Amino acid sequence: MIPYGRQDITEADIGAVIDVLRSEFVTQGPIIENFEKDVAAKVGANYGIAINSATSGLHIGCMALGLKEGDILWTSPNSFVASANCGLYCGATVGFVDIDPKTYNISIPELTKKCEQADKNGTLPKVLVVVHFSGEPCDMEAIGALATKYGFSVIEDASHAIGGKYANEMIGRCSHSDLCIFSFHPVKIITTGEGGMVTTNDSALAEKLRMFRTHGITKERDNFLTSEQGAWYYEQQSLGMNYRMTDIQAALGKSQLKRLDGYVATRQIIAQRYDGMLSSINVITPFRDSLNLSSCHLYVILVEPQRRRDCFEYLRNNGIGVNVHYIPIHLQPYYQSIGFQKGHFPNAEAYYERCISLPIYPTLTIEQQKYVSEKIACFLYE
Ligand SMILES: *Cc1c(COP(=O)(O)O)cnc(C)c1O
Repeated sequence: MIPYGRQDITEADIGAVIDVLRSEFVTQGPIIENFEKDVAAKVGANYGIAINSATSGLHIGCMALGLKEGDILWTSPNSFVASANCGLYCGATVGFVDIDPKTYNISIPELTKKCEQADKNGTLPKVLVVVHFSGEPCDMEAIGALATKYGFSVIEDASHAIGGKYANEMIGRCSHSDLCIFSFHPVKIITTGEGGMVTTNDSALAEKLRMFRTHGITKERDNFLTSEQGAWYYEQQSLGMNYRMTDIQAALGKSQLKRLDGYVATRQIIAQRYDGMLSSINVITPFRDSLNLSSCHLYVILVEPQRRRDCFEYLRNNGIGVNVHYIPIHLQPYYQSIGFQKGHFPNAEAYYERCISLPIYPTLTIEQQKYVSEKIACFLYE
């Protein structure tokens, strides 16, 4: 089976992990801080905070922004459930903003309209989570302007998007957001097994994130609330989690990060090659804004809704590990049980009925791509 995504682990990666295993620290050692600095420097942010998953990053990101019961979080329905669950973890109410049928990202006209209405009703969100779906950046300037106008915080769920650029800035630079979160799950652009990173330019937020990822504890003398009692002393000042990354994982991430630009360049080539191979076939290929750089995490085609299921099954039966991203979050039984209904976000629903994610990862060969494209043509025309 050709999978839809897969990690690329080199001998150098394996060596880096083995070095940590032979060293004094397998967790909470020096490599974590090293990896945080590398990612922050790479994307041009002041701070990087490593965590054990992007989901954890979304959770403590919301906590650091003060999201709590009675508050509202908005996100896109076309995402993994984690983009919305983080609001529920904090006891907030979750709402969705429908997608743009061209980019599959949050729709700026819909967001603008929803802000205007919410402003009148007193139901503006405290936090907006935007998702750079497939690696294609959202319109951050427009989002940042609305955040300033209406006074809410912005988290970029950049789980798909490390290595990409919005205009001339790396995703993670946080010029138009408070926090940016990357995932290092093996299907994403670079991996640490499980893992993630939050980037920010705000020192107070960075401090909170560091505490929330480790039980709300600080060991920094300068930050103690009471007088220090000895060298053993630490303080729990708030209720945090154990969301720490290990040094074993950070070593893998640090080694992988060196190949980030190459990975994105290769993914771009693969995406362009699919564009060409599929141009004479009756499918819709992904939009990419030439002013941005997509990390090309996913390559999604749209087929006729009546044929999607059969097409998916045909490709799977032919050894192609296609996937579907995403079942709209509000259609999940859990979200239905808290009041969402089919019909609420028609663009995300219409998109979902047509989408198929094709295999895309750095070691995918031209022959494999040809095979995938031929099989799609076979299904549609034979
Ligand atoms: C993968 C993913 C997540 C969750 O990432 P983990 O590191 O597995 O927690 C969140 N949001 C989006 C958009 C994702 O693709």
